[in-house]
Amino acid sequence: MKKIALALACLAFSGSAFAWESWGQVYKSYQIPVPIWGDQTTDLEDCSGTSEYLGTAKRAYITWNQVTNTDFSWTIGGWGGPYGGAGDGFNTIRFKEINDVGVLGLTTLNNYQGDRDCDVKMDVNQNWECGPSDPWWNEFDLESVILHEVGHQLGLDHSSNNSAVMWWSIGMSANKRVLHSDDIAGIRGRYPD
Ligand SMILES: [Zn+2]
Repeated sequence: MKKIALALACLAFSGSAFAWESWGQVYKSYQIPVPIWGDQTTDLEDCSGTSEYLGTAKRAYITWNQVTNTDFSWTIGGWGGPYGGAGDGFNTIRFKEINDVGVLGLTTLNNYQGDRDCDVKMDVNQNWECGPSDPWWNEFDLESVILHEVGHQLGLDHSSNNSAVMWWSIGMSANKRVLHSDDIAGIRGRYPD
């Protein structure tokens, strides 16, 4: 009995070191690098043109790609689609109205022929800072929120570490464009190399 108690104590200790959580199945190795299909049809009025907000999105995907010692990576499929309904096999990011108070971005998890298929939607009706400048006191940081949603897209749930990008909320003027060690442990945990 003492040995079991000791083993449990060790588990509890290692569990408290990281707080990330899994969300859904992982992308299978033959899906990786996972192509991202973007939507360039929306006029996101806070950004100066399509190229600016797509550039912001690209930076967020690249930030996840820069993590070493993981088998996971994204690649840009294209910015003009194709994309359609949920579960169509295309992993997308779109800029649309969400119309849900307090929701900045939304990621939906689907399944296409047994494979992970995950889509991000960003709310166009927020006061965004498109970067690379820092957000003002009354702005949300677009890159930080996309970085968070992309963490969901690749298979992470919310972390209970409030310094992590995968923490459930972000305030106005907050800048979280750099992954926390807990986020890095999360992608490595889900996609070990
Ligand atoms: Zn979230």
